[in-house]
This record gives sequence, structure tokens and C-alpha cells, in this order.
Amino acid sequence: EPTLQPAYLARLNDAQRRAVEHGDGQIAGPLLVIAGAGSGKTNTLAHRVAHLIVKGADPRRILLMTFSRRAASEMARRVERIAGEVLGRDAAVITDALTWAGTFHGIGARLLRDYALEIGLDPAFTIHDREDSADLMNLVRHELGFSKTEARFPTKGTCLAIYSRAVNAQAPLDEVLGSAFPWCAGWAEQLKQLFAGYVEAKQAQNVLDYDDLLLYWAQMAAEPEIAAHLGGRFDHVLVDEYQDTNRLQASILMALKPDGAGLTVVGDDAQSIYSFRAAEVRNILDFPKQFAQAADVVMLERNYRSTETILAAANAVIGEASERFTKNLWSERKSTDKPRLVSVRDEVEQANFVCDTILAEREAGTALKSQAVLFRASHHSGPLEIELTRRNIPFVKFGGLKFLDAAHVKDVLAVLRFAENPRDRVAGFRVLQLMPGIGPSAAAQIVETMTTALDEAMGLAGWRPPQRAADDWPGFVALYSGLRAGAKWPADLEQVRLWYEPHLERIHEDAITRRADLLQLEQIGSGYASRERFLTELTLDPPDATSDQAGPPHRDEDYLILSTIHSAKGQEWKNVFVLNTVDGCIPADLGVGTKEDIEEERRLLYVAMTRAKDNLNLVMPQRFFPHGQAARGDRHLYASRTRFIPASILAAFQQVSWPTAQAAQGRTPRPEVRVDIGARMRGMWK
Ligand code: ATP
Ligand code: MG
Repeated sequence: EPTLQPAYLARLNDAQRRAVEHGDGQIAGPLLVIAGAGSGKTNTLAHRVAHLIVKGADPRRILLMTFSRRAASEMARRVERIAGEVLGRDAAVITDALTWAGTFHGIGARLLRDYALEIGLDPAFTIHDREDSADLMNLVRHELGFSKTEARFPTKGTCLAIYSRAVNAQAPLDEVLGSAFPWCAGWAEQLKQLFAGYVEAKQAQNVLDYDDLLLYWAQMAAEPEIAAHLGGRFDHVLVDEYQDTNRLQASILMALKPDGAGLTVVGDDAQSIYSFRAAEVRNILDFPKQFAQAADVVMLERNYRSTETILAAANAVIGEASERFTKNLWSERKSTDKPRLVSVRDEVEQANFVCDTILAEREAGTALKSQAVLFRASHHSGPLEIELTRRNIPFVKFGGLKFLDAAHVKDVLAVLRFAENPRDRVAGFRVLQLMPGIGPSAAAQIVETMTTALDEAMGLAGWRPPQRAADDWPGFVALYSGLRAGAKWPADLEQVRLWYEPHLERIHEDAITRRADLLQLEQIGSGYASRERFLTELTLDPPDATSDQAGPPHRDEDYLILSTIHSAKGQEWKNVFVLNTVDGCIPADLGVGTKEDIEEERRLLYVAMTRAKDNLNLVMPQRFFPHGQAARGDRHLYASRTRFIPASILAAFQQVSWPTAQAAQGRTPRPEVRVDIGARMRGMWK
């Protein structure tokens, strides 16, 4: 007699169900799900978490790591829906306890604060984003005199990239230089000195950079006692998109679960697109034999996302890769339409094509939200954003909240960060120098006085400002003491803005629009539980940008999605447009890239194509500006179809030109006469 299984299990295919039921709710041996795009890996992971909860696992003891914060909250919602089918309304309460769902970096930040005292870290540490890190690197670079004495010493950005690569790959400097930065190999000694200085500066200031969140976590997990405590805290550890983890992340998992018990990882080697951040596709390939007990491996081969024709085209593209991916994906979704290769004149016409098509699709009943435009680099969407705005088509750009990079927003965030951590020099120097009369040396003095005083705010009050700063000083001391006395969230943000406004008006001519940004920042801030969470999460994973000045759109409003291909990972839309599918763009950096870099770009195109459910448009402008049109004087390139679609696989596509004859007919042709009316006017008086 067949046992009655819950509906959520019945909906899965056999392989998916095997992955979900692995261990049947109990802690079991390691599990790997390795499968192609759209085969239900993420969906299976959500079902597995729901199943664990239904079977009685404690959600507070489940650690779930995804590639973005958005993916984590999406996953939590799905878990709630699935578990809800069995548990009813209780599911909401239970999944609320699923608090350990997030990104590796976000989870790392929380655990490090939690264990700070055990590892000699001040729990008030602040986190530097890439720009802050580069600034600090630059400071040390200057202090060591490398920028002066050494001609053509690598830039701050390059120094940081080398450092970051060495840390994430856990590789010796010489090796990193040799393989990825050969033109810097001559500086190995100086770079070592620089990095030592950089690490010291970070520690003296109690700041961590992105890489530290993983590095410290890995170090912490290497301590047997802490590792046991940490590992004992989570019964189940589940990771999505495992192909894009690096060595540090793998070592963290191994330390948490040395025997692999309770560990589930999911991924697709054909979609590995983060090797430029030292991601290691070997992590997923080696996973099965990494533990004393071999991992169970589940492969999924049926793609539920895309039509047969889209899948055939995507398979053709990845089939040209030099590596062989073993997966054999098939779909039952029939379609007569092949993906379109759309040739347009230039980027302006590309924008027109996209706008015309999405509007027509919306007329026909496809919401904007079910359509997405993907591109290789964030600035490629510039001309499209202009056209969307002109036509009043609302859009959201993933991970692209540009105003976070604006000086005035950084100023306000720096005040908050300085209040969280008085030793954060990059923040402190920025804030103090907002006041006229305070320059770098005064700022250094102030920070010195503060950090040697018992209480920072008192130290601040004891400092005698120079004449020019005398008026501003008491107001700042009052603000700072208030912020130090304890966070009052989100009221703190308003306090800082009120203090900052006179400076804003003094420094910037367009103070009014900048003030609007600060109000928007307050609105965003109110969505976070605390000042510390706001600062941490804003730094780690900026919220999405929107075309609407009034702030982030409401969930049920309709808007088009714009995203880089990297940020589109794991997602799907009914209609997908890929911009600039031309050589020099995908792949980018022709001529510079190594063979491996080019292969990664091929996988990137594969990721982009496999986001589409029903309609896929690859757009090819015949000329384009590789660095964005904003750079004036920049020359456009005459582009040709991406090399990833060679003639041999063209049959998988439908080639069209736009405007099509039909669309062109709709437009009244321009009259061909040319007259010089000005000359006529002048002639009238002769
Ligand atoms: P990617 O590699 O892009 O991350 P994935 O393998 O994680 O893809 P999912 O996003 O989980 O795939 O699933 C793709 C689509 O297939 C989703 O719309 C999902 O709901 C659907 N799907 C997955 N499994 C099934 C199933 N058994 N029956 C019906 N639909 C399914
Ligand atoms: Mg997925």
C-alpha cells in the first residue's frame, strides 16, 4: 500500500525527491546536487529546507547560504509557502526563526561579532567597502613612499585586487602575481611590505574589509574549540550556487562540518562565472570525495524553465566550450520560435528595440516584471535607461543603487560608521574634514586625542579646535556624543542629516537634489532593524536602484528588471533581452584575456541565455561604445556577432534585423528634399 506523501513531495521528480528526502529530516551524510541551469536545484533546496522543518528540525539551527541577500529572502519565502502546505499558518512563525539565511559575507559578519571576544576582535568593528579599502591601501602606499620612489608602482585598485586574490585563493603572492598580474611581478617585495602595512592599519583601526569576513571566519573555524562550538550550532548547512565559492569558503564549510554530516551543496559547473574573484570550480567537482564518507550525488537532467528551442541554443553555445560539462539537459516545453539574434544599428536603436518590444509584450499581457534586460557591465544599460525614463517605463536595476557612491551619501554613512567605531580612520578623516578649518593633520590629532582618552566622546570634547572650526565644533561634539551614547534607529539618520545639511549647502551647489538622496537614505534605513545591521548590510549588498525618485517600488507595482548577467544568477523571466551580444563586449577585453578568461565569458553568455523561459532576444548593435557613451571623445567600435555564436551553430537562432521592414513601414519616411530656408530669408532682402 503506497504511503500518502505530502503534495509538495509529489510535485517533484524522482531525483529531486531523492535530494529532498536524503536523511529523511535527520542529519545525514554529505549531499551534492550537481545539475544544469533551470533543472530545479534552488527549488529542490527550498523543498529540502521545508521538509527538514516539517520533519521537526529546528529552523534556528539551519544555516542557509545563497549568493545574494535577495536570493536568501526569496528562498525563505518559498520555504514558508511549502512548509505552510503542511503546517498551515504556523509555518510563518517557524520560518521567521530561519534567521541564519544570507550570504557568506553577511553570515560571516554576524558570526564574527558574536565570537569577537573569543578571537581578540573588538565587536564594534566596521566594514570597509571596496572603495574604502582602496583608500586605506592608498594611505599605506603613500606612507611607505612607494608611490613616490617607485615609478609606475601598481595603482591602489590593482594593489587591492592582488591582495584580494591572494587572500581568497589562499595562494602565495608570487603565484598570484605570476598567474594573474605578471606585469606586477617585479614589485613582489614592495607589495609584501605594503600588504603587511595594510593588515596592521586595519587592525589598529578595528576595520574589516570584505575579504576579512571570510578570512577571519576561516581562521576562527580552524580553532578546534571554536569550530566545535560553531559546528554544533547548526544541524544543517546548505549552500546554493556552490560552483562560485572560493577556497576560503570551502575551507569554512569543511571546518564547520568536517565529516560532511548535515552538509548539502548545490551548483552547476557550467555556470561558474566568478573565477575573477578566485572562485574555484574544483570545489564542486571535488566535493564527492572530500570526506571520509563519500557524498551522495544527485544529478538533475530535466529543465523545467526554458522552451526546447532556448535550451537547444544555450546547449549549442556551451557545447563549444573547451571543457566538457557532463550534463545532458532536456526540456518538454515546446515552442516553434527559436531565440532571436537581433541586429540593430547602434545602442540607441538597441534601446528602441527593447522598449518597443517590452511595451508590445505588455500590451499582449506580459507584465514588465516578467521581462528582464541583461548586460555584461553595469554601464552598458546607460542608453536604455535614458530611453526608459523618456518613455516613462518604470524599472529597477539590481544591485545598482548608484547614489550610495555619491559623496554626500558617503559623508552621512561615514558619520554613522565613525560613531560605531571611533578608530575607523577612513570614516573619521572624512567626517572631521567636512568642517572648515580641519585638515588632515588636525583630523589626525583629533583621532589621536580620542583614542587615547578613556571615553571617545569626552576626548573629543576636550580637544581645542582652531579658530575657524570654533563655530562648528560644539555642534559636532553634541551630535557625536549622542550617537556614541547608543544607537537610536532610524532617528540617528535624521540627526546626522540635520547636522550635515549646512555643510551640504556649503560644499555642493545642487544641495536640493542631494538632500533628496539623503531623505531616500532615511527611508531605506527605516527598513533595517538597527544601525549596525544597516551599515553592515548596506556595505555588503547594496539595495536595488529604481527609476522612481520616490524610493524603492512596492512589491506589487510593475517594473522592468535591469541587471548585470552576474547579478542575474539563479533567476528567471518569461522574456529576456541580452544587450551588446558582440565581440568586445561578450567576451569583453579582447586581446587582454587569457584562454580561461574567454571560457568564463562563454559561461557568462550561457548563464544569460538560460535565464529565459519563453522568449530570448540577443541584441547586436553594429557599433557600440565599449566604455559607455558618457566618455566623450570615445570612439565607437564596429562590432560583430559574438564569437560564442559561430556560423556552425547559427541554425539554433532566428536572425532578424531591426527595425524590420514592417516596423519601418509604421514610421513615416523622411522627405528627401534638402532646402536652405535661411539662405532664402536672407535673399528676400537682397
Ligand atoms: P539555476 O541553475 O539557473 O540556478 P536551478 O537549477 O536552480 O536553476 P530553479 O530555479 O530551482 O532551477 O528552477 C527552475 C524552474 O523550474 C523554476 O520555475 C521552478 O519552479 C521550476 N521547477 C523546478 N522543479 C520543478 C518540478 N519538479 N516541476 C515543475 N516545475 C519545476
Ligand atoms: Mg538556482
